Amino acid sequence: MRVSIFGTGYVGLVTGTCLAEVGHDVVCIDVDPEKVDGLNRGVMPIFEPGLAPLVEANHAAGRLRFTTDAAEGVAHGEVVFIAVGTPSDEDGSADLQYVLAVAKTIGTHMHRPVLVVDKSTVPVGTAEKVRAAIAETLAARGVDVGFEVVSNPEFLKEGAAVEDCMRPDRIVIGAGSDEAVETMRRLYAPFNRNHDRIVAMDVRSAELTKYAANAMLATKISFMNEIANIAEKVGADVEMVRLGIGSDPRIGWHFIYPGAGYGGSCFPKDVQALSRTAGQHAYEAGLLHAVEAVNERQKSKLFELMSRHYGGAERLAGKTVAVWGLAFKPNTDDMREASSRRLLGQLWDAGASVRAYDPEAGAEARRIFGEREDFLLCSSSDEAVEGADALVVVTEWKQFRSPDFATLAARLADRVVFDGRNLYDPSQVEDAGLAYYGIGRGRSL
Ligand code: NAD
Repeated sequence: MRVSIFGTGYVGLVTGTCLAEVGHDVVCIDVDPEKVDGLNRGVMPIFEPGLAPLVEANHAAGRLRFTTDAAEGVAHGEVVFIAVGTPSDEDGSADLQYVLAVAKTIGTHMHRPVLVVDKSTVPVGTAEKVRAAIAETLAARGVDVGFEVVSNPEFLKEGAAVEDCMRPDRIVIGAGSDEAVETMRRLYAPFNRNHDRIVAMDVRSAELTKYAANAMLATKISFMNEIANIAEKVGADVEMVRLGIGSDPRIGWHFIYPGAGYGGSCFPKDVQALSRTAGQHAYEAGLLHAVEAVNERQKSKLFELMSRHYGGAERLAGKTVAVWGLAFKPNTDDMREASSRRLLGQLWDAGASVRAYDPEAGAEARRIFGEREDFLLCSSSDEAVEGADALVVVTEWKQFRSPDFATLAARLADRVVFDGRNLYDPSQVEDAGLAYYGIGRGRSL
């Protein structure tokens, strides 16, 4: 099928590439000429495991093209995806300006019937706004072409996006007609062979499904962080508690890891947007507010532990802190809303310097923080601890999981490790002569 995708970010690029990989003819359109030029020359704008070779192969095969030319993009697709960003507005609701700009672009260039697919995460009622924007633009041109807008929210995880896209748990399609569902079924048939993964529903339910999924996951994280904070107060180890509750199949093992707070481009903005949507409909989403509030506090947890260890934030002045991990989670270079950003800001405000290492997010960190005297980007985890007083682990990259604690004890002047993801066994760290602080580990009282 001929497919056009507006937005070549994490979602648009991965979706376009996977659709091309199964044989569809895909054109990706982006307003960022640098990104498009780079992609045409084989330069990836993001790090995503397994993505680069797929882009290269499908681009070479002519099934995947990149352009800034919106007219060409709209003319190409019988199915046209909207996969642009929906960041938070000033009041926390989703900013639809990019989505609606694409809708107008589609209306401006449409000459024959298309199926418009909303893949961006958008509040309930957005498909109707997209439909209205397209209809208005068509009417202004005096053109009458049939089209339908469906909702097809994306559930991929950064860091495993290609795998998630090729083998989705479910494909949610919110549509107002059987024909639209049928077209989407044909499009996704190659991903739907093993068993039927398509969950067809009405448009509004599909739009809400995406927010419900992210809000549920964020709730699990904040719940566990709440338990961790209680565990710390009462002298219990949340890691034991985690093992104790995860064994209950009604609770399960997934997403019950305490840590330094959730970040990324989705959970923070989507939880916020959902509670704003609820508010606009005169419903006070108390649970969602609590999820946000716990996370806000948790993002300062590492700095709080450090201040406690040093006997006050002011004692961090002049310290050099090694930071392992800057991305909001492993296997991505994405630092949007990452906990590391809060921590680095707090350390700098306190007068400390940072020696940071992240396997993939270095360039992004440089883009965000620029050059500064109190920030050294290192090229290895070993280099980051050279000459440092303390070590803080912020992102649980696999390569940070079993360091040589004796070497760390020899290198870190203040002999202390702050483990923001509970990667280590506290007694193993302490046996090497280091002080250990984790999240919710009552021993660190
Ligand atoms: P992103 O910021 O990585 O990419 C968005 C892209 O859209 C950018 O390249 C930007 O230049 C482009 N763009 C903006 N306006 C445009 C226009 N008018 N025409 C063409 N291109 C335009 O965003 P993302 O992370 O891919 O997220 C896209 C949407 O998918 C968001 O709504 C997000 O909430 C949702 N989502 C994201 C993830 C994720 O893990 N990143 C997962 C599921 C859903």
